[in-house]
Amino acid sequence: MATFDGPGEQGDWYGVGAEMASRFDRSYWVEAVENRRFPAEVWRALGAGGRLGVMVPPEHGGRGLGLAELAAMTEGLAAEGFPILSLITSTGLALPAIARAGRPALRDELLPSLCRGEGLVVFAITEAGAGSNIMNLATTAEVGKGHVVLNGTKAYASAADAADHVMVVARTPDPDRDRLGFTVVLVPTDTPGLRMEPAPTRLAIPERQSVLHFDNAEVPLDYVVGEPARGLRVLAAAPVAERVLMAALAVGIGRFCLERGVEHSRQRVLHDRPIGAYQGVQHPLARAHVGLAGAHLLLEEAARSGDRDPGAVATADVACVAATTAGFEAADSALQVMGGLGYTTSGEIHSMHQLARLLRSAPVHTESCLNNIAEQILGLPRSW
Ligand SMILES: Cc1cc2nc3c(=O)[nH]c(=O)nc-3n(C[C@H](O)[C@H](O)[C@H](O)COP(=O)(O)OP(=O)(O)OC[C@H]3O[C@@H](n4cnc5c(N)ncnc54)[C@H](O)[C@@H]3O)c2cc1C
Repeated sequence: MATFDGPGEQGDWYGVGAEMASRFDRSYWVEAVENRRFPAEVWRALGAGGRLGVMVPPEHGGRGLGLAELAAMTEGLAAEGFPILSLITSTGLALPAIARAGRPALRDELLPSLCRGEGLVVFAITEAGAGSNIMNLATTAEVGKGHVVLNGTKAYASAADAADHVMVVARTPDPDRDRLGFTVVLVPTDTPGLRMEPAPTRLAIPERQSVLHFDNAEVPLDYVVGEPARGLRVLAAAPVAERVLMAALAVGIGRFCLERGVEHSRQRVLHDRPIGAYQGVQHPLARAHVGLAGAHLLLEEAARSGDRDPGAVATADVACVAATTAGFEAADSALQVMGGLGYTTSGEIHSMHQLARLLRSAPVHTESCLNNIAEQILGLPRSW
């Protein structure tokens, strides 16, 4: 189906989705969703093709490219039915942070194999009392001689059950100021004192969420990424990256759903005509196309802007709101057009719809983006 042009310069990266679709048929993904099993085979295939280190410099085993390429790949994979949340948290956040701020020994030990997909690092910042307001984080990282000790509980960490390491954001007294700073620590998942249990989320996506309990979990000081209590510097590029990659996932999901909705509306005959001949069916699909086409352009612009200036969050906020709105509306229109088939595993729209809806709440909720747009673009007073 001709919808709109795929990314121009990043076409090769967008095409990774089609490459995976030629290697893994739909039953693979449906099974992973059904069993909430991390799609390790696709992950390894991406790594073997040199795709997971897209934002890691070549000297550490990566490709030395940027958000534009990762966004194109994320969108293309989702459009072919492989919407992978870990491309945000692992490929977009954790690996670039290790490459930028990890100690040399840690980078040498971990990055080449992570880029090859022979391992997984996930990201854990959220706690029951601290989601969008990270100032409420209560997990502590106590720095000792040659080690750091973690205590506290993280909620919702996606794919932690399949990971070798978790990038944890915790609090440490700042020696220069009278307050707590943030410390970013890489914790091997087999560390004594780290206990994992399933989080009670019920989503039809492969990545499970876990609750992580840290009870005097001790790791070598070398596993601190950046300096203790200076973690915000390590995460400075994260807000733009997560918004751009959420947008990429949302547009890709929307494209996947729209294509299936259109195909079904051509095939399904009611009252002697295909349902796609009725304007009441055509218009929501046409509107979905318009929304996705615009969001796609904003996404490309935000990705390029993020590569030029990793702190340019307002442009990423605009793309994120446009894309998560368009992605959800496309998924919802497709679900309606598909009738009962939309709710079956073979129809696949239901699971995509859930993920499209999630992207309006997490990793960043729409209101948070709107707050920044109001303040930074419209010049209104800060509201939070
Ligand atoms: C399936 C799933 C996977 C996840 N994976 C991870 C992961 O891998 N790692 C991780 O660390 N976390 C993860 N999370 C957590 C996720 O990032 C948080 O849920 C998200 O940041 C929102 O935080 P919260 O749930 O505390 O909501 P809150 O911060 O309590 O916000 C609740 C709602 O209040 C409203 N709101 C809040 N603040 C404002 C404001 N200033 N202005 C207007 N409205 C506002 C919004 O509507 C928002 O949705 C995951 C969550 C889910 C559901």
